[in-house]
Amino acid sequence: MKEIILIKYGEMALKGLNRSSFEAALLKNLKSRLNSLGDFSYTKSQSTLIVEPQSENIDLNKAKELISKVFGIAAYAPAAALNKDMDAILNETPLYLKEKLEAAKTFKVEAKRSDKKFPFTSPQISSALGGKIASVYSHLTVDVHNPDITVTVEVRDKYAFARADQIKGAGGLPTGTAGKAALLVSGGIDSPVAGYMMAKRAIELIAIHFASPPYTSKRAEQKVHSLLMKVAAFCGKIKLYVVPFTAIQEDIQKNCPEEYHTLIMRRFMMKISEEIARKNGCEALITGESVGQVASQTLKALAVTDAIVKMPVFRPLIGLDKTEIIKISREIDTFDISVLPFEDCCTVFTPKHPKTRPQLSVIENIELILDYDLLCETSINNAEILYVEHNGIMEKNNG
Ligand code: ATP
Ligand code: MG
Repeated sequence: MKEIILIKYGEMALKGLNRSSFEAALLKNLKSRLNSLGDFSYTKSQSTLIVEPQSENIDLNKAKELISKVFGIAAYAPAAALNKDMDAILNETPLYLKEKLEAAKTFKVEAKRSDKKFPFTSPQISSALGGKIASVYSHLTVDVHNPDITVTVEVRDKYAFARADQIKGAGGLPTGTAGKAALLVSGGIDSPVAGYMMAKRAIELIAIHFASPPYTSKRAEQKVHSLLMKVAAFCGKIKLYVVPFTAIQEDIQKNCPEEYHTLIMRRFMMKISEEIARKNGCEALITGESVGQVASQTLKALAVTDAIVKMPVFRPLIGLDKTEIIKISREIDTFDISVLPFEDCCTVFTPKHPKTRPQLSVIENIELILDYDLLCETSINNAEILYVEHNGIMEKNNG
């Protein structure tokens, strides 16, 4: 029996004129995820996309897992692709759904006939198949209001599809249809979640990570790779800049009053990120900050941080509690990686008494001591560029 996957579009189905560009982006994102498993054909049919494996040895369970994370998909369902005749529908549907029907106590059947030339009406299909299922699985009773399983038959162009209930998809809008932004990513809990949330709203991500070897280890950097692989499962390939930050941090430590270290460091991160973002056609920066979490995240501190850049800074976690952020990080499977203990560049240089109500003019004056532009330029020129995908990291872009 041939198994395929039916994909139902999400809210993009409602978005009028943009619909075709949304569909094109979704298709591109899907293909980029699934082509690691083998060849598939993709057929559009109303607000459904039919994904059909082109060979027998394709791992459909893996395909389902990948599909479950692609933004723009409201729901999906594995289905048997049956010949369009009543015998096939009646005989093969109970077999295909054997395990699920055996586990259920109640069921109902729904039939949809988009091919009006098919010689049976939807009620006729439902009633014949309902009778057949009840005769094969005598423990089942019909419940039209709240069944354990709804068996659906969709008679379309080429096949009749038989399936159980749909599975909820990742939702959101297809990544890449709302422009591009640069995510400042640490090894912490928050920034991967922030990236995920913006990607869900269709934004393509690049990522920037500041590393301070030898204060921070190679393993801290690998942690960032692992986190971004999880995010890439949702949003596709991410270009990552690993920016050397040691010289800047040492310079700050040597020349600036300690209580301002964190803020000056954060302003450097923003300034450098803005430059990298611009080079890559990004229109905004994204960080994982939320108000009041730490000294550098008071309103005054955030304002001082933003004052060094012109680009908008998006903070999708700004109003969330830590427990809410952790809940999302568990859902996207980044939490266990984030809590691994490797030192981040921020923690290494954290002052004992950071300023919580900093004055911009004071900070700007202190920064005059530093050779700001040269420090930024040197870091950018020495950044390492990697490409992160859900299934691995590449040093060069190969398409
Ligand atoms: P996170 O869990 O994302 O590390 P946090 O609550 O620990 O966040 P901070 O360490 O103050 O907060 O960092 C605030 C934000 O600054 C992070 O969410 C991230 O966007 C950015 N950031 C912090 N450290 C780095 C780094 N080493 N490289 C790139 N961005 C960073
Ligand atoms: Mg952090």
